[in-house]
Amino acid sequence: MKSILNADLHCHSVVSDGTLTPEALAQRAQSNGVELWALTDHDEIGGQARALKAAQSLELPYLSGVEISVTFAHKTVHIVGLGFDTSDPLIDAGLKATRGGREQRAKEMSMQLEKVGIAGAFEGALGFAGNLELISRTHFARFLVESGVCNDTNEVFRRFLTEGKPGFVEHKWASLKDAVTWIKASRGVAVIAHPGRYGFTATEEYAFFMEFKSHGGQAVEVVTGSHTPDEYVKYADMALEFDLLASRGSDFHSPSESRIDLGSLPWLPGKLKPVWELIEDRIQ
Ligand code: AMP
Ligand code: MN
Ligand code: MN
Ligand code: MN
Repeated sequence: MKSILNADLHCHSVVSDGTLTPEALAQRAQSNGVELWALTDHDEIGGQARALKAAQSLELPYLSGVEISVTFAHKTVHIVGLGFDTSDPLIDAGLKATRGGREQRAKEMSMQLEKVGIAGAFEGALGFAGNLELISRTHFARFLVESGVCNDTNEVFRRFLTEGKPGFVEHKWASLKDAVTWIKASRGVAVIAHPGRYGFTATEEYAFFMEFKSHGGQAVEVVTGSHTPDEYVKYADMALEFDLLASRGSDFHSPSESRIDLGSLPWLPGKLKPVWELIEDRIQ
């Protein structure tokens, strides 16, 4: 496998909070020149068989993927799993437990929005969620745009649904240890998703990386649609400092909402060891 490779190892389908089917994503990835692809829906692997089948019919190399919601130091962080065995019962049970509680959380979010004059948000968000178990803030954001409360989803997350704003409900997700352990136990590699997004202080971030490694985590997203060019440099240095492999993924959700399309990211810096070199034998 080349180290300069148009790998896109992070995106979402209608199975979680994306707007395209796994088949449409496979097609779009191939049209955009992706050479290695993974679908990484939030807390759910129900789209993996479809993604693999679509990728194989296009002769697009594929790695299994998932993005697990984790609570660490009272913050929500995301851990991507790549190249794991999708039929392993341990990861399936872990993800099922992680998904539990989203419906209740969504109802509480809706009640908060009601108090600031926005009625019917639960039903509205549900209309955008293909999968009730995975009803997410993204579906609420789409409802708030559709109903004219905000102009776009970025405005939604500035005014609502985030800490201190109406519609934010704290939630306890999987532990960092559990998420990394499920991925490792099913023969996958655990990857810190978009570390630049968490707003950690340097001390908190150091503790996060150290604990991630202590549980067996091996990689970090360096080039992602969620990072600025300065953050590509910062996390390339941290990958070297913590002896982590590097990953690359757009985090594509939707043609009209995502900043970066599938397969359109800059290359990983050449000094880094790409995560796909470790799991070459898992590519299907
Ligand atoms: P949830 O898992 O329900 O907390 O929803 C998290 C999802 O909301 C993320 O995966 C993103 O797709 C989306 N999201 C979170 N923050 C933002 C933001 N600032 N701008 C756009 N989308 C966001
Ligand atoms: Mn998302
Ligand atoms: Mn994420
Ligand atoms: Mn994501």
